Amino acid sequence: MSAPNIETIVSLAKRRGFVFPSSEIYGGLGSAWDYGPLGVELCNNVKRAWWRWMVYERDDIEGIDSSIILNPLVWKYSGHEATFNDPLVDCKECKGRFRADKLQEEYEQNHPAEGLVIYGTGIVSFAKGVIKCPNCGKINWTDPRLFNMMFKTQLGATAAEEDVKDEGRVYLGGAAYLRPETAQGIFINFLNVQQSMRRKIPFGVAQVGKSFRNEITPGNFILRTREFEQMEMEYFVRPDAEHFKLVDYWVEQYLGWYTSLGLSRNNVDLYEVPEDKLAHYSRRTVDVMYRYFPERDEEARQWEELMGIAYRTDFDLKSHSNKPSHDDGTRANTDATEDLSYFDEAAKERFYPHVIEPAAGVNRSVLAFLMDAYSERTNDKGETRVILKLHPDLAPIKVAVLPLAKNKPEIVGMAKAIKRALQPVMRAVYDDTGGIGKLYARQDEIGTPFCVTVDHQSLEDVSVTVRDRDTWEQERVKVADLQQHLQTRLLK
Ligand code: ATP
Repeated sequence: MSAPNIETIVSLAKRRGFVFPSSEIYGGLGSAWDYGPLGVELCNNVKRAWWRWMVYERDDIEGIDSSIILNPLVWKYSGHEATFNDPLVDCKECKGRFRADKLQEEYEQNHPAEGLVIYGTGIVSFAKGVIKCPNCGKINWTDPRLFNMMFKTQLGATAAEEDVKDEGRVYLGGAAYLRPETAQGIFINFLNVQQSMRRKIPFGVAQVGKSFRNEITPGNFILRTREFEQMEMEYFVRPDAEHFKLVDYWVEQYLGWYTSLGLSRNNVDLYEVPEDKLAHYSRRTVDVMYRYFPERDEEARQWEELMGIAYRTDFDLKSHSNKPSHDDGTRANTDATEDLSYFDEAAKERFYPHVIEPAAGVNRSVLAFLMDAYSERTNDKGETRVILKLHPDLAPIKVAVLPLAKNKPEIVGMAKAIKRALQPVMRAVYDDTGGIGKLYARQDEIGTPFCVTVDHQSLEDVSVTVRDRDTWEQERVKVADLQQHLQTRLLK
């Protein structure tokens, strides 16, 4: 089983310290969330698992960590200033504001018989005369208009009106952006990484970090927020490589990664993005979709993007290079100081590598892992218990050491000593804040794979009870063997 809906996870996440609504004591901040003691562990475990898989277990990937605020020229030449827009529409009746393309998509899904209804506006197809406002149900829209989603900020102590501009160049003190994707930090460092690490093509560069998008309609918990984290990798190949097949290769890799960490294949699907909906840099994109909305009747409406795999061609490296020119011979990029082309020693050939990009969201991955891990089980007393069957690599806590009697100093001392001994090799906690049944239930609900119970018998036979989260089976294990026993089972 998996979670019946996102709301179930929202309430579990708040109750058990995974995710809290941000700034709650000031009334919250639309769609911002804070990760609590267990949430930060889960996020870190997802990122660590990804980094290990992507960077350490392969021989062709390097990692970097670039700045969040880059020279604004990066966003001029990447195309984001001109094209990183979402179309928005306002309802003139209730003043609600929405993404026109999302309303249109939903309308088309609900009215397949009508085919594609295109009411041209020049910006986006939007069936202005028939789509009802999701807020008030009326039909009275403004025309769609484009809204740039990059967050502006100010560099240095200069006031906005003192922006220093010269022929399009913005100097320190001027406006800058928070990055809307981590990818550009990789492209502008392509030569730095390739030369310092003596890499030959093909190779990739991976990065994990925060990105910011001024989303028009954030929502659905941590699925769509204005501040989020990405795990991106840019894989550089020869222009003549079989790029379309490489997209399929990375799709398979990611399906393997997500399912190996617990996602059920049944809840994951693929979506080939149609040509007319591709981003400006992409020649082919396949989105990996997750069933975030299992409660919706129509199957088609149950899915939302978990990650995307795009073939970005040589668009970015070329755009950031000082050499490429327009058809009339003028330079396309008059600001860059470098040429990001690559010289292939063996073939004695210079070219701009092409790029395959798998781009995943940390937060959307966390939500998918939480939803898929959710299950319920009824105990002997007929009570329903929640069990979060997280993969052991992702579980925030690997083992909880529990004393059967907290008023017995010898038992408490032994339990605390076991916790201390385990801590260097696995995340362990000690808990004595309730009866044993309650303590077990609490650990099940946060996904702790094992509970270790120290009882009166333990003082005599130096053994403990190890309880399995998923089966509730208990096994007696010698304290001397405990670490090895747990490590072996955690690896399974
Ligand atoms: P969407 O169509 O859902 O807005 P996108 O196609 O614009 O997403 P990409 O630019 O491909 O997203 O970004 C790569 C990944 O980053 C997404 O698949 C998603 O996991 C994550 N991501 C993008 N925008 C957000 C957001 N606002 N909140 C949380 N995660 C996001």
